[in-house]
Amino acid sequence: MISSDNDRNNIVLSMRKTIMKTILKTNITVKDICDGFVYNELEGRGLFGLSGKLTIQPEYQRNYIYASDGGKREVFVIESILKGYPIGLIYFNQVSEDNLEVLDGQQRITSVGRFVNDKFAIKDENGMEQYFGGMAKDKKAKILETKLLIYECEGTESEIKEWFRTINIAGVPLNNQELLNAVYSGPFVTLSKEDFSNSQNSNIQKWSAYVSGSANRQDFLECALDWVSKSNIGDYMSRHRKDKNITELKTYFNGVIDWVSSVFIDVESEMRGLEWGRLYEAYHKKSYNPKNVSEEVQKLYGDPYVKNRKGIFEFILGGSTDTKLLEVRVFDDATKKSIYKEQTTKAEKKKESNCPDCALGHEANKEKIWNLSEMDSDHVTAWSKGGKTAFKNCQMLCKTHNQAKGNR
Ligand SMILES: [Zn+2]
Repeated sequence: MISSDNDRNNIVLSMRKTIMKTILKTNITVKDICDGFVYNELEGRGLFGLSGKLTIQPEYQRNYIYASDGGKREVFVIESILKGYPIGLIYFNQVSEDNLEVLDGQQRITSVGRFVNDKFAIKDENGMEQYFGGMAKDKKAKILETKLLIYECEGTESEIKEWFRTINIAGVPLNNQELLNAVYSGPFVTLSKEDFSNSQNSNIQKWSAYVSGSANRQDFLECALDWVSKSNIGDYMSRHRKDKNITELKTYFNGVIDWVSSVFIDVESEMRGLEWGRLYEAYHKKSYNPKNVSEEVQKLYGDPYVKNRKGIFEFILGGSTDTKLLEVRVFDDATKKSIYKEQTTKAEKKKESNCPDCALGHEANKEKIWNLSEMDSDHVTAWSKGGKTAFKNCQMLCKTHNQAKGNR
């Protein structure tokens, strides 16, 4: 989807209330827009158009993402133009007399600019790849002469940003971090994006072992900010907005990554996206022997009773005691029922409790026969001591005694 007209109409109405002036322009062509088009390959951003008058992706805009997913979206923009379909309203903000910024439409404009500059091809009727430079004259002209529907708006920075924050930009909604980058735009965001939102950064591959997501969608930046701010990203960005360096952010992020990679020498896919910031705060002062840690990781990975592999790392960091983190497999209902029956028959013959621990005691429950619903299964030999989740290792205990034995 490129745009939704209903949304647009609502936006225009709400803009009229907050922004002083909006003018609809219907005479700007693709050719005008693409005049002086500059695309920055490194940053993945369309930069300028309209003979330099137009800033396509101001710093509060997200990176160009229509080229991702195999470029289907940018091809769709060009196919729409060739078929004469509208590609939706575009909004410019009049920054000064000679300077406009794209408020909404930068993905579409960048698609058009990239196509006209032979950055990608579309398929023709015969399924052949076709670049703009190799197209027939009439088709070229059709694209270049297409007129776009453009609203030029004028408002204060805060009005524009407020408006920008309250709408979902056509096609792909802005995510949280993209919105925060818009709201707190300034030198700090610019510097942060150079490092954390640059898909050409050679560190991305290393980071990807521990952080999930993509640089383009600001996932690494969001993670770094989350860690350094202890999950108060907005607050942190507001305090550092005018900073001309990102030393603290970088140092902290690298510190966490270095710590994880030195404690856990193997890289497992379940490490990606864990709360390493929180774990770093809790455990980085403890010392670990990486070789022993590695052996323990491998042992737990090979253990079929460990259901939650993501919990292995925190389990080890915490001293290998909190088995809840591993979600060790429990006995199934059939096993429980069958063991219950066996225990209860024996207990009734001996006139003692069907909970072996109650039977050993001297309390009132010594001879009590519990219902199945009042009991829970227990590993005779604890899982942590090598006991298996198998029929032979199952016993039923009353809930009180089961809890007293702790989690296995
Ligand atoms: Zn008991």
